[in-house]
Amino acid sequence: MKDTTKKFFGRLGEFAMYTLVPPAIVASGCWLAFGVTAIAPSFLCALGLDLIVGFGVNGYQTVKLEKVKAELTMAQMDYERGHLVGVSCASCGARNIVPLDLTIDGFECDNCHSKNKLYYEFRASTIMDLDREKVMEVARKRMQEEAIDNRNDAWDRAEALLK
Ligand SMILES: [Zn+2]
Repeated sequence: MKDTTKKFFGRLGEFAMYTLVPPAIVASGCWLAFGVTAIAPSFLCALGLDLIVGFGVNGYQTVKLEKVKAELTMAQMDYERGHLVGVSCASCGARNIVPLDLTIDGFECDNCHSKNKLYYEFRASTIMDLDREKVMEVARKRMQEEAIDNRNDAWDRAEALLK
């Protein structure tokens, strides 16, 4: 059997299972309770109800699925925003967006299609809490000292010249 045929019969089976079987059970129950004349009306009633409920559930599930899909897309975009890095191609210089993933050691340039190897470099520095006022005070003092030094130098030089 072809794949599409299989799919078709699968769908048909599903349709029969969910759409025809429940009303058939209801109709057979009504047949036992009220006789042969009750089969057709009870079957049709149950089928109608089944279809309405089915459409409702289907619609609800579709809406829910769309919402989940949208949320997934958003999450994916959020993730990529924080986990992508721009790297210039070594051969043509074009900027490529590369996932920030240590298991990836290279990428193919979007522009010139040459293969690039990726090198990661990490550096560390100590985080210091600098007091702005104190820093400015120290800088001012240093500048004053330098000014005095310069003046002394000038005097020294002048004295040296006068000797
Ligand atoms: Zn390139």
